[in-house]
Amino acid sequence: MRYDALGLTLSGLCLLHCVALPIAALSAPTSLGLLAHEDSLTHIVLLALALPIGGVAFFSSWRHHRSSSTLIIGMVGLLIMALGVSHIFGHDNEITLTITGVITVAGAHGVNLIRGHQKTDAAIRDQPS
Ligand SMILES: [Zn+2]
Repeated sequence: MRYDALGLTLSGLCLLHCVALPIAALSAPTSLGLLAHEDSLTHIVLLALALPIGGVAFFSSWRHHRSSSTLIIGMVGLLIMALGVSHIFGHDNEITLTITGVITVAGAHGVNLIRGHQKTDAAIRDQPS
């Protein structure tokens, strides 16, 4: 379940980054071009980290719980993140798509974490005392 905590942390960092960036751009419009370029680079790095972390987390939870819902939700989220950074829908939609994808991925990690805790609780309960 450590990968889910890692994935959630990463999602939180990207959300902070995506929200802070437009504010920084508004307060310093001259650096907008520079920030926009740096933005894509940050998202490529984040996606490169999110893909293996999410892949391991979602597949291992699918193996344990035999529930494909978080696997599908997580994969859709990663796909939306990839679409955002690929600029297929234009550079202007990068942050919107990235935020949507990140929240989707974070949701899947969150469900996995809750399920993991429930499983641990059940294992503790079932132990002979
Ligand atoms: Zn971001």
